[in-house]
This record gives sequence, C-alpha cells and structure tokens, in this order.
Amino acid sequence: MKDYLAKAITNDGMFRAYAINATQMVTTAQVKHDTWSAASTALGRTLVAATLLATSTDKSGKSITVKINGGGPVGGIVVEADSNGYAKGYVANPHTELTLNDKNEIDVGQVVGVNGYLEVTKNVMDKEPYTSSVPLTSGEIGDDFTFYLAQSEQIPSALAVSVLINSDNSIQVAGGYLIQVLPGASEEAISQLEEKLKTLPALSEMLIANKTPEEILNQIFGEKQLQLLTTMPVEFYCNCSKERFANDLVGIPVDQLTAIRDEQHGMEIVCNFCHNKYEYSEEQLNAIIDLASQSQQEK
Ligand SMILES: [Zn+2]
Repeated sequence: MKDYLAKAITNDGMFRAYAINATQMVTTAQVKHDTWSAASTALGRTLVAATLLATSTDKSGKSITVKINGGGPVGGIVVEADSNGYAKGYVANPHTELTLNDKNEIDVGQVVGVNGYLEVTKNVMDKEPYTSSVPLTSGEIGDDFTFYLAQSEQIPSALAVSVLINSDNSIQVAGGYLIQVLPGASEEAISQLEEKLKTLPALSEMLIANKTPEEILNQIFGEKQLQLLTTMPVEFYCNCSKERFANDLVGIPVDQLTAIRDEQHGMEIVCNFCHNKYEYSEEQLNAIIDLASQSQQEK
C-alpha cells in the first residue's frame, strides 16, 4: 500500500478525522538514518504525528517544526512537516535499541523520556514563526501530541500513532489517526466516542491487518457515518540543495568562513535530515565569502 492520508468529517458534523498510512515514510527515515528499533519507533511516531498535525490545517503552504527532547536515550528528535504531506526528520542517537518493560512491551516513554518538552513551531508564509510548547506527559508521543492540542491549540483531540519494527530492524507498519472535536459536538457524542476508542482493536492491529486509512476511520466511527473529504499522498522528502546550503553559509561570519577555507581549502556539508552530502570547492567557497562580506557589510 502506498502511503496516504484520508480526511473525513462525520455526517453529523461533530468530528473531523484524519488517518494515515506512513509505512514507507518511516521506512525511508529508517534507511536514511540507519535507526535501530527504539530510535525508529520514536522518530517514526513523531513523523506520523507531525504529518497529522501539519495536514490538519486548512491553510496551505504552512509547515511546522516539532522538537522533542525528553532526556531519554534516543536524545532529541526534530521533525519538519508541511500541509502538503511532506515530512522529514532525524534523531540524535539513531543507534538506540528498545528495552522491554515489565509487561514485555516496547517502552517508548522510557526511551524518549519525560524530562523535557514537546515544542511546535509554526511557519506560515509572510508571518513570524510562532512557537509553543508543553511539558512531555508520557514520552509515548501520541499522548504528548494530544496534550499539546488540548493545551496550545485548545482543540479537544485524540491522536494515536503506531510503529512496529521487524526483527531485522526494518519497519513492519507505521500509521496513525487524529480526531478533532468540532464546536457543535454534544457531550453525549464525545463520551460515546471516548468509550468506542477504548473498545477498538489497537491501532497496531489495524495496521498489521492492512486496513486502509478510510477503513481505520470507518472502524472508529462506524460504516456510513463519515463523509470522505479528501485523500493525499504523504512522503518522507527533504528539500535541501547545494544552493540552499550556500544561502545559509552566506549568513556565517566572514572570518569563520575564511578560516575554514584556509584550513580545509573547501567545505563539505551533510544535511541532518536526509544525509545528502554537498561539496564546495575552494573557488565556490571564495564566491560565498564574497557574497557574505557584501551582505554583512550592508548590515
Ligand atoms: Zn536534506
């Protein structure tokens, strides 16, 4: 199944819902960063949650940056996702394996940690980026995003994410859903939904059974209770380029750039998000230094 997202609204207009299959997205992240089980799960869950968050907005051209640092063994996680379904991310310690808790389950909360924050920065065209954060509640990612949505966005929501890993470290399945309570929702409908969510098969089971995003939403709300609004592909994608990094280099103080040129006679940059490498020759670095000294003199 190709990765995609489905958006729907309930017929009674009380809930909006999004479900996503992101197995390929998380597989790409796993391969690019050579993540081991714990890091794959933590990064994968954050990729899925951030994609749900970024696509659950009506404004196109908007992107978000999510940072999580709970002090656990995986270290910091950074994910950027946009409203067009593209996401990219990395984790500080990719070679982290999962420890099992006393129920023999994967303890994601422990590997992420709870001594820190979930921070979300929104980048909207022509506006200053806006950052808000909440303390991590469980480090399980899904709960933390649900708490963020309630606190910072003041939208009662339920966000669930799941990533399952094969014994060879490849990704078995990854996906998630987001349900938003709309302003007209009745208390009764909300408590019915809460009860329903408790009795549903686990998200991981639905993903293993190859349920499509639409089938996951139907399972939550019941057949014929939903109007499908749209579907869109989602993908791990990095928009970095040699030109883009060169533009960033122009912002580095000229004396630092000349020091690098004199010592290394060139430069190599590795993108954190996708591990692509970009080489700059001494001549190219000289051209960057010229631009940097022009723009830094103007200030
Ligand atoms: Zn990149």
